[in-house]
Amino acid sequence: MVTTHNLGFPRIGAQRELKSALESYWKGRSSRAELEVLGAELRRRHWAEQAALDFAPVGDFAFYDQVLDMSFTLGNLPERVLGFHGDALDNYFRVARGRSAPVADEQAGCCGGVAAGEMTKWFDTNYHYIVPEFTATTTFKLDASRLLEQWAEAQAQGVAAKPVIIGPVTYLALGKAKDGSGKLALLERLLPVYAELLETLAAQGVEWVQIDEPLLVTELDADWRHAYDHAYHALKSCRVKLLLATYFGQLLENRHLALNLPVAGLHIDASQGREDIWPLVDTLPPHKVLSLGVVNGRNIWKTDLGAALDWLEPLAERLGARLWIAPSCSLLHVPVDLDSEENLDREIKSWLAFAKQKLGELALLATALNQGRAAVRAELDAHRAAIESRRHSPRVHNPKVKAALAGIDAGLGQRQSPYAQRAPKQAARLKLPKFPTTTIGSFPQTAEIRWARRQFKAGEIDAVTYQAAMRAEIARSVREQEALGLDVFVHGEAERNDMVEYFGEQLDGYAFSQFGWVQSYGSRCVKPPILFGDISRPKAMTVEWIAYAQSLTHKPMKGMLTGPVTLLNWSFVRDDQPRSVSCQQLALAIREEVLDLERAGLRVIQIDEAALREGLPLRRSQWQAYLDWAVASFRIAANGVRDETQIHTHMCYSEFNDIIASIAAMDADAITIETSRSDMELLDAFDSFNYPNEIGPGVYDIHSPNIPTQEHIVALMKKAAERIPAERLWVNPDCGLKTRQWSEVIPALTHMVAAAKTLRATV
Ligand code: GLN
Ligand code: ZN
Repeated sequence: MVTTHNLGFPRIGAQRELKSALESYWKGRSSRAELEVLGAELRRRHWAEQAALDFAPVGDFAFYDQVLDMSFTLGNLPERVLGFHGDALDNYFRVARGRSAPVADEQAGCCGGVAAGEMTKWFDTNYHYIVPEFTATTTFKLDASRLLEQWAEAQAQGVAAKPVIIGPVTYLALGKAKDGSGKLALLERLLPVYAELLETLAAQGVEWVQIDEPLLVTELDADWRHAYDHAYHALKSCRVKLLLATYFGQLLENRHLALNLPVAGLHIDASQGREDIWPLVDTLPPHKVLSLGVVNGRNIWKTDLGAALDWLEPLAERLGARLWIAPSCSLLHVPVDLDSEENLDREIKSWLAFAKQKLGELALLATALNQGRAAVRAELDAHRAAIESRRHSPRVHNPKVKAALAGIDAGLGQRQSPYAQRAPKQAARLKLPKFPTTTIGSFPQTAEIRWARRQFKAGEIDAVTYQAAMRAEIARSVREQEALGLDVFVHGEAERNDMVEYFGEQLDGYAFSQFGWVQSYGSRCVKPPILFGDISRPKAMTVEWIAYAQSLTHKPMKGMLTGPVTLLNWSFVRDDQPRSVSCQQLALAIREEVLDLERAGLRVIQIDEAALREGLPLRRSQWQAYLDWAVASFRIAANGVRDETQIHTHMCYSEFNDIIASIAAMDADAITIETSRSDMELLDAFDSFNYPNEIGPGVYDIHSPNIPTQEHIVALMKKAAERIPAERLWVNPDCGLKTRQWSEVIPALTHMVAAAKTLRATV
């Protein structure tokens, strides 16, 4: 008999209940008790959804983040919150979100302001975790209370469950040594706490513990490989069975290491790379359980169950009861329930599976394996019909798009002339001063904008009224920019709800869910659009708005677009063709828009690639291949314009050192980047590479309401000018201003424009 289990369930709730509860608790509108009740209710409901499994996860629920939970379980709190005498949950949120000091703070030592823990991407997902902090003197101390309480709840509910924890090696790897000390030196102190935790769980009658070590799908150097051997040998005598869980990719060169760790079972991501599996089975130590993640936990597509059974059946034959099946990873990364989608096109909906439906697929697979396919014939047939319909649907496959793709050649991504020849032509046309000033695209999304959008969506105002309201906002942005004396204008993006959704809604091949929320961090969720088919652009998407904005001023207006790589990386994408192909299709659509903007007379066009770096594969050996097609796609989108047209791109905070050659290969005339918090150090990468084109290093942090002073901006730009020739520098904020108020934007930009004037006179 095959065993079924799940690695984690989305915790936010089908209606984002956790989000509302957290935000109301943080605002002081509800009590801790109310928040706890909601948490328990979500866990209860989610376990009920997983009742058919042989093992449901316990401990996957977190009020903010599972890594922060693990830090609390291990007693690894940042020093700055240690003296806190208040409520423990409150302290947890202090680490998660930071807290500013009350104005008159008498007990500053204890309950004053505290900086939030740093946040970073969880492997290659869009989920962000709170980075554990270490120093050479970090010690650990078990607090198993959260796991024990949740285990008791699951027991009381009669759930067959296994606790889920993050393994010691991955935990150390995810953290940051604040003093630069070697993290691996802490392993010796960490392991006894893990051993104690496992013993504590064993004492509660826990049989299996899922111990997550996704680090095993990344490239490891000898020290870290050794740490694995050492750690799991140290935990070998614990009285629970360990299911070592790897996910987000294949083990490849770590296969031997993972396979031979002294644990009772190994979970691997079997959603890609099935060729990995037979060699693994052939060398699987006897008695060891092999859990195959056969249902993709990262996408929203139905599994081809027939194909899955074709390769699972012989494995089941071979492994017998040692075969477990599961989603590839925690379902944290997919929305909860497709059933609540009432507006999705019926045919497209039939191709999809969210968390609940994915568990349904797992149950079907298990029944087919245990009792034969005949036992679930009708369900399998229905499934196959959906898979076939998707495979052949004309909504997915557009011959015109495929023909356009086949026609792509190297010339398509090539500007007419190199930058050195284009730059003087653009300068002659734009007539910009030295240190030209600009902004990144969006201006404040005011209450009026949001109100008008809501009314329009609800059908309370018509398109004409809505358009008039947005035009009024654009006109306001232009007036403000005139008054500020900026050099290159933006229209302010009033009409855009979101930089991906806005384009997705107008492109063929994209669909939108109503409740397809996925946790990004804490209470923040994103609702990625669903890229389901060949991408085409039925008509121009931005030209009317931008041309209107340009008609209001003589200053150059920037056409504002989201680039193909960012559209791709912030969407749920197809699994029936490589990402690179979807990206090329997006590139062709954006290229048409770029050319339309150029025809409409726009002299500057910005193509945002905020998420370029986010798409990097986990393994460095695969980086270059990704960068090559990503950059090629950007070039297709951008480089069809004449020499006189200036192309800008923008990237949010990124390390540039290791990708600078690819950034340069994009060949944008100007790139604006988020740098202010790095004190211009990020420019070192551009400096040492001799980056040849123009750069606008952000001069102030748009995430904060603080108003930068003119002196500060001048000082930052002087630092920039030490690294990049002044003729190639722009002056701009770090990113878009949509989350700010006009009352913050105006003084900040006033100082920025004044700073540019000072610079022109002095540098
Ligand atoms: N043009 C976008 C804006 O200003 C860029 C946003 C981003 O980089 N995330 O809002
Ligand atoms: Zn940005």
